[in-house]
Amino acid sequence: MGGLPRSRAGWAKQFRMRFSLRYISTRGQAPKLNFEATLLTGLARDGGLYVPESWPQLSPGRIAKFAGRPYQEVAAAVMRPFIGSALKAADLEAAIASAYGTFRHQAVTPLTQVDEGLWLMELFHGPTLAFKDVALQLLGQLYDRVLKARGERITVIGATSGDTGSAALEACRDRAAIDIFILHPKGRVSEVQRRQMTTIDAGNVYNIAIDGSFDDCQDMVKAMFNDAAFRDRVNMAAVNSINWARVMAQIVYYVTGAVALGAPHRAVNFAVPSGNFGNVYAGYAAKAMGLPIEQLIVGSNRNDVLTRFFTTGAMKMAKVVPSLSPSMDIQVSSNLERLLFDLFNRRGDKLAAAMQDFRKTGKFAAPAAGWARMRRSFRAHRLDDRQTLTAMREVHRLTGMLVDPHSAIGIVAALAARKGGKHPATPTIALATAHAAKFPDAVEQATGIRPALPAHLADLLSRKERLTELPKDLGKVQEFVLAHTRLGHNR
Ligand SMILES: *Cc1c(COP(=O)(O)O)cnc(C)c1O
Repeated sequence: MGGLPRSRAGWAKQFRMRFSLRYISTRGQAPKLNFEATLLTGLARDGGLYVPESWPQLSPGRIAKFAGRPYQEVAAAVMRPFIGSALKAADLEAAIASAYGTFRHQAVTPLTQVDEGLWLMELFHGPTLAFKDVALQLLGQLYDRVLKARGERITVIGATSGDTGSAALEACRDRAAIDIFILHPKGRVSEVQRRQMTTIDAGNVYNIAIDGSFDDCQDMVKAMFNDAAFRDRVNMAAVNSINWARVMAQIVYYVTGAVALGAPHRAVNFAVPSGNFGNVYAGYAAKAMGLPIEQLIVGSNRNDVLTRFFTTGAMKMAKVVPSLSPSMDIQVSSNLERLLFDLFNRRGDKLAAAMQDFRKTGKFAAPAAGWARMRRSFRAHRLDDRQTLTAMREVHRLTGMLVDPHSAIGIVAALAARKGGKHPATPTIALATAHAAKFPDAVEQATGIRPALPAHLADLLSRKERLTELPKDLGKVQEFVLAHTRLGHNR
């Protein structure tokens, strides 16, 4: 038997280390990691995604105590068990304070009622006007603190369909321990989105426009992760929604939203415009932790792989078509793998085989038992561009609010689900994922009104752009990264 630790503090520390939550890969072949390693690793070495080995539970008593508390305080309480011994309580609180200090609204993610039984949660008050800031502002803080303590550096490489890029760049800009490279599909992001990335004037920031789709960009990032020699050489890290810490940070607003509407005493639904399934997966996580969420309603545009999945249990690979909601122009939803892991009863070997098959045949069918279980929690609704424009116009006519195309899809999905729902009285929160001014063309087309950018971005269209155009060629992209990251040379 090992000797007893000498002091109470020593005992407490050992206890924390021993019982800190571990993370496992959805493909079952990578080592289990603690939070710090999961944060720095991103994609698992077996090609899977990290998920917590078990879900920390929020009892009704704990949830009730969140009522009326500030966002930051709920955030610390909800995230604490996921982080374990990686950060001291005071450090976590400081990281949260800095991350959400950049938001332009005191409530961080304010809730407004738009109809009987329907609320809108505004997730776009961060620096880049999209919900990605909620997770990425925190991720930048976590990276900074953890890397500083370890005396290490990383190269962040990510793919963006629009909003992740600017949010990641804003989170990592000017940080001494980070170089960041963001790939975006050339010509497939809005001008405002592109300029929010390319006008950042910081020495550690690189924008790469790829001649291809978002899925091509994402595939290249995955391929770089799977190239162990490259990955180790540049100490590669991810900011894409595959990074567990992003999911973790997003769980918080599901909790604050549900509590504001009466949880734990009353259940709520969430309607989530979805592409990579990162946002809505955080809702699933909140439900798994004990938050009373009745339905998670997934909204898609015409790239409707998720809607087809949740209505039929099957997925078929399809080509991406550009839409008015470009941040959801995705046909391979990487975070869905985390849900599929549970669908396969957490059998990584079975999921790995199914995913390999999906890559080969372009087809995926959910196992029947898991699927029946999952179906009870999810609904899905698809809108084409014409329906999206109609929705934006109607929301403006009925409420006076200008909403962006993504948020409009969430609102319509919420209304559609309520009509056919089992418990029509259950309140629904639709997540507004972008500020209207981020998609001014679509908003103007729908309503005739061109939304103005907030003051801090007012001169965006006249700032100087910096970017590099590269072909859809993995070798060329890796060459560029090696030539520019401070970790690429053998220093
Ligand atoms: C990223 C994004 C989405 C999709 O979120 P996922 O987590 O990928 O499902 C929806 N709306 C906006 C505005 C976004 O930026």
